[in-house]
Amino acid sequence: MPEANSLSEASLGILMSVVTRIGRFAPSPTGPLHFGSLVSAVASFLDSKQYAGQWLLRMEDIDPPREMPGAASQILAQLEAHGLLWDKTVLYQSDRQDSYIEALNQLKNKGLVYSCQCNRQRIVRLGGVYDRQCRDLQLQDDNATLRLCLDDNTGTQWFDDQIMGRFEQHLNGEVGDFTVRRRDGLFSYQLAVVVDDEFQGITHIMRGSDLLDSTPRQIFLQQCLGYRKPEYAHLPVALNQDRQKLSKQHHAAALVAGRESVNLWMALAWLQQRPPPVLQRLDVSEILNWARSHWQPQAIYPSMPASAPEGY
Ligand SMILES: [Zn+2]
Repeated sequence: MPEANSLSEASLGILMSVVTRIGRFAPSPTGPLHFGSLVSAVASFLDSKQYAGQWLLRMEDIDPPREMPGAASQILAQLEAHGLLWDKTVLYQSDRQDSYIEALNQLKNKGLVYSCQCNRQRIVRLGGVYDRQCRDLQLQDDNATLRLCLDDNTGTQWFDDQIMGRFEQHLNGEVGDFTVRRRDGLFSYQLAVVVDDEFQGITHIMRGSDLLDSTPRQIFLQQCLGYRKPEYAHLPVALNQDRQKLSKQHHAAALVAGRESVNLWMALAWLQQRPPPVLQRLDVSEILNWARSHWQPQAIYPSMPASAPEGY
């Protein structure tokens, strides 16, 4: 019965598109969760769960000098306490070196990587956009910085962000040949993220808008490596009273244990989800149930950054 057959295939297609939405939260263990990171966790969780998708967790622990001992397990405990339970096991970037080497070799085999021996002072003098001085030297120094060759025709990369709208960046003019592996042997954030998003099958990325201008580099790397491009949504960034992004670097306060319901409510209010005040007195799973059925990413103002609520 061909008709019945095509019907079931159509239903299967719909089912697959629902089940295969995969989001992620990818903290660096530089310190415990603060209000800004909770906002990203809550938003990406709801964005995945509203579509019955999976929400994966990735610990971005590939930069040991910046990390704080114990922070990774503290973050996991904080997420659990807020009812933000992830699917599958946590992926640790520190376990993923072989995959990064493989991706790097793939880029090398395409002739897209070169060694750069410029010192830090020279790079600083250039003001952020590398001038390709080392590109033609063809140095075979694996202990140098490794850079990715941008094509002269790379031009403007753009994508449609689901919150911020269209974002454009001229990679040659604004970024230049960027680092894929540092002089100290550590892989760049850009390369590791792209390799892991592909590995984890991430379809939807929701994260802070401080990463908006990394996205064109990541899309370019996806193209170089033949990966799929996820959908992107960048959230406004929460600021402290000095108008700095809430971050470990700016001494953002860790979320206070025992106030999880209030923390969640504050995060939802900050995300313009208008949670009713009575929710603050419920437990975290009830708050998240409400949030899942009322999640409206289109309510988030793209024009912020905005101050974190008082006390955060
Ligand atoms: Zn150089």
